[in-house]
Amino acid sequence: MASIFTKIIQGEIPCEKIIETDSEIAFLDIMPSAAGHTLVVPKLAVKRLEDLPAKQAMSLMSTMQRVAVAVSTAFNGIDYNLILNNGINAGQEIEHVHFHILPRAKGSPGPFREHIQYAEGEMQEVGAKIRNCL
Ligand code: AMP
Repeated sequence: MASIFTKIIQGEIPCEKIIETDSEIAFLDIMPSAAGHTLVVPKLAVKRLEDLPAKQAMSLMSTMQRVAVAVSTAFNGIDYNLILNNGINAGQEIEHVHFHILPRAKGSPGPFREHIQYAEGEMQEVGAKIRNCL
């Protein structure tokens, strides 16, 4: 089941990469709900969380924790949601399991309610800021 995320993993589509491990990749969301909105994606192309072998689910959680802390630190300890849209009725659009790390400041709109657009070069700056906190 090849998705656009498989193409990103294979380097066929560019992304603002935060980290890549043997089993996961994390990169900035292209249509962010907030600056620093990051996706953490297992390289194994499965649709749902329960399709991931337990060992890979644990690895995903470990990488997610590392990236989430970096995102938060990069934005001065900002709060965040970790969100999995697991299945179409839960809002999943890309059929390749992934978690959203979504920074939330006081008064931030609820998850996915609004989108921001990075200014020219800002996405790269945000990516560098997060990578510096890994
Ligand atoms: P979901 O609704 O949980 O499946 O979320 C899919 C997410 O993938 C959305 O937030 C999209 O903005 C994001 N997305 C789609 N294509 C790309 C891409 N090429 N690079 C980065 N993020 C993407």
